[in-house]
Amino acid sequence: MEVNSIGKGIVIDHIRAGQGLKVLSYLGVDTSKDTVALIMNATSAKHGRKDIIKIENLTDVDIAALGLFDHSATVNVIENGRIRQKIHLSLPETVKDVIKCRNPRCVTSVEPSIPHIFHLVDAEREEYRCEYCDEIVRL
Ligand SMILES: [Zn+2]
Repeated sequence: MEVNSIGKGIVIDHIRAGQGLKVLSYLGVDTSKDTVALIMNATSAKHGRKDIIKIENLTDVDIAALGLFDHSATVNVIENGRIRQKIHLSLPETVKDVIKCRNPRCVTSVEPSIPHIFHLVDAEREEYRCEYCDEIVRL
């Protein structure tokens, strides 16, 4: 299947094989309404097996959150059948309400209205630090 088989939307490429379904549910895509193609275990010259997701008419996704989930993936924004923008995902510097702090004494555990904010401390080890209690969380 070719990238340009959709006129407008996004194509998420190079998703780690087997992760496509999780990414779909993570994005909150409504599969009863949106036109979605999930290709699982496609062969990739560079990466071995991969999953690919195509979502028609959707161009607005939370790139930062998606990077946290699978930072090896690439997001192609398609307009008029062409790639308008190609985004290589990376781990975001700061994430809000994606990772939860596991420290029971952390203010976020006590006070549910406080957002869970984490800062990247080590991209290679995929470690994040809690804004409030300095708890380190590995992805
Ligand atoms: Zn905390």
